[in-house]
Amino acid sequence: MNIVITGASKGIGYAIAEIFAANGHNLYVTSKTAAALDLAVASLKKDYPNVNIASMPADLSIQSEVTAFAHWCLAKTTPHILVNNAGYFVPGKLQDEADGQLQDQLNTNLFSAYHLTRALLPNMLANQTGHIFNICSIASLGAYENGGAYSISKFALLGFSKNLRLELKDKGIKVTAVCPGAVYTNSWSGSGVDPNSIMEAGDIAKMIYAATQLSPQAVVEDIIMRPQLGDL
Ligand code: NAP
Repeated sequence: MNIVITGASKGIGYAIAEIFAANGHNLYVTSKTAAALDLAVASLKKDYPNVNIASMPADLSIQSEVTAFAHWCLAKTTPHILVNNAGYFVPGKLQDEADGQLQDQLNTNLFSAYHLTRALLPNMLANQTGHIFNICSIASLGAYENGGAYSISKFALLGFSKNLRLELKDKGIKVTAVCPGAVYTNSWSGSGVDPNSIMEAGDIAKMIYAATQLSPQAVVEDIIMRPQLGDL
């Protein structure tokens, strides 16, 4: 199958790329920084030499770059699985976070997924099969300390996922919202949090891969995962 993954250079996105590569699928990956993406692709190619892996850097907070990446994908392949994972977390309180923080968070965490999905959908619809994963968050499900604009953007991404699922349910395309709690990635390095106290990126990747293994008539609507000891 052909798998499109955003934010694949590191963290959860890299772990998702790795599990699909390990199972012999073709990868079409992107992230913002070209050098980090090149390193990630080199590492995947070294570990999985028989897998086709193509990459293009793009700043997905900018609609024209999303469109360019979508055109690049469609020139190369018909996507079967799309993983909208690119995103970033800025802690903040609504009353004093910087002006523009909500717009920035929405641009990266919501509009990237919205625009990319809309650009790839006609091709997926023509194929009448497919699976779209949106990497939401526990922050999509409830308020929490310093959630701020990030939490708003992740609530919106969950709302997008639910509406998309409804629209596509009779079109052969599944939509899964993935809502992880704390996962040890770069976002947590330097935080002082013990890596062994929260989830591994590979935990999320395993659940996503498992959700792709069901019959066409079954969909995993939501994947909610937390550290065993609960939220931080
Ligand atoms: P990460 O290690 O920082 O990786 C984020 C990835 O997204 C990188 O490849 C990054 O590329 C890419 N990205 C960020 N902004 C981008 C942009 N404007 N355009 C294109 N690519 C961009 O983060 P992570 O912890 O794996 O998080 C991945 C997703 O999971 C995010 O959506 C995050 O909100 C969500 N999530 C994370 C956790 C957690 O605890 N880690 C929990 C719940 C949900 P560059 O490095 O080049 O910018």
